[in-house]
Amino acid sequence: MDLELDETQRLVRDAARKFAEERIAPVAAELDRESRFPRELLRELAELGLYGVNIPEELGGAGAGVVAYALAMMEIAQKCASTAVTMAVSNMVAEVITAFGTEAQKRRHVPRITSGEYAAAAFALSEPESGSDAGSLRTTARRHGDRWVLDGQKQWITSGAHAGVTVVWARTGGPGTAGISAFLVEAGTPGLEVGRPEDKLGLCASNTVPLRFESCELPEDALLGEVGGGFSIAMMALDGGRIGISAQATGIGEAALAAATAYAGTRRQFGKPIGAFQAIQWMLADSRTELDAARLLCLRAATLKEAARPFSREASMAKLYASEAANRITARALQIHGGYGYVRDFPVERHLRDARVTTIYEGTSEVQRMVIARKVLEG
Ligand SMILES: Cc1cc2nc3c(=O)[nH]c(=O)nc-3n(C[C@H](O)[C@H](O)[C@H](O)COP(=O)(O)OP(=O)(O)OC[C@H]3O[C@@H](n4cnc5c(N)ncnc54)[C@H](O)[C@@H]3O)c2cc1C
Repeated sequence: MDLELDETQRLVRDAARKFAEERIAPVAAELDRESRFPRELLRELAELGLYGVNIPEELGGAGAGVVAYALAMMEIAQKCASTAVTMAVSNMVAEVITAFGTEAQKRRHVPRITSGEYAAAAFALSEPESGSDAGSLRTTARRHGDRWVLDGQKQWITSGAHAGVTVVWARTGGPGTAGISAFLVEAGTPGLEVGRPEDKLGLCASNTVPLRFESCELPEDALLGEVGGGFSIAMMALDGGRIGISAQATGIGEAALAAATAYAGTRRQFGKPIGAFQAIQWMLADSRTELDAARLLCLRAATLKEAARPFSREASMAKLYASEAANRITARALQIHGGYGYVRDFPVERHLRDARVTTIYEGTSEVQRMVIARKVLEG
């Protein structure tokens, strides 16, 4: 694997870093405290190309590839993990429509995502009774003349209240995963009801809502891909999405380690900076090592995807490792801050809260281990 970044990758990373430092960092704590979705900031982020990093330029994307996308995610997540998850899902949906949409679907939605005309895009797979076992979903889509009619509920949908377009998975008939299809649902479609935003532990400036579909009529061309082809679209999207979440977790971990390192250099006890104590040094050393491992796993998966080689196992390994590491690293950073880590005057409590969900969404750590083990056993 070539660890030297090319010029495009460096440019995207540096642009994301500059934007994160100048525009996001000053407001991140406030957005978190007020649970405020940063509509204007996201528009600026999209205008920089960060809603379509791996989308071809003719559809309004940056055309910069998967590695550049992962690097940009790390930079944004360092300053605001909520903004990063909104960015991650919008990129994922733009990629799904680019990969599986008809020419008309691509032209209608992808440039609206990449330009920021849509505040975000959303991905609606999970349901109240169907999480890890996504193949058991119950939302239905039935044919009615030349229309599709959706009925059912979705749960935990990131950006669901703000999305210009949401990819919705529903059962079109037939048992198991072969009976699942994907649909593009536009904001404001009659029969689509957005529920109350979740009151979350972390990622407070991201929007997470339930969606309800009641006799929600869609045009025939709302179908994405083939009838019955939805589940494999979801699984392919999640493989790519996991690269984004591993980058997000790595970014959160970087922020926590930077805060802990700075604090260890200034806080004095027993007449010395606490960074002079071996107990603190070992925590910093473990965190640095784990972060480098997380970054390498993430960039390996991104490199494979960019080269159009199989990357499913590698994406799950990156997501598993980076998310678990981010939880350890943010906990250590809080410990290094002592009592000051436990209050909102310092950023580490936010990093710890934000890291927590990374082992849960886009497949829990247990699900990642299932994916990895399956591939290991296949040989
Ligand atoms: C903030 C947030 C944002 C989200 N955004 C989205 C989104 O945009 N779109 C979307 O579709 N979903 C989204 N999700 C949903 C997320 O993907 C699910 O929460 C996740 O897949 C787990 O499903 P669940 O919560 O139903 O847990 P469950 O599947 O009920 O799992 C509960 C526990 O059981 C374990 N478990 C389940 N099955 C097994 C097994 N076979 N072996 C071992 N352990 C098992 C799990 O690992 C977990 O620890 C989001 C969730 C959150 C919290």
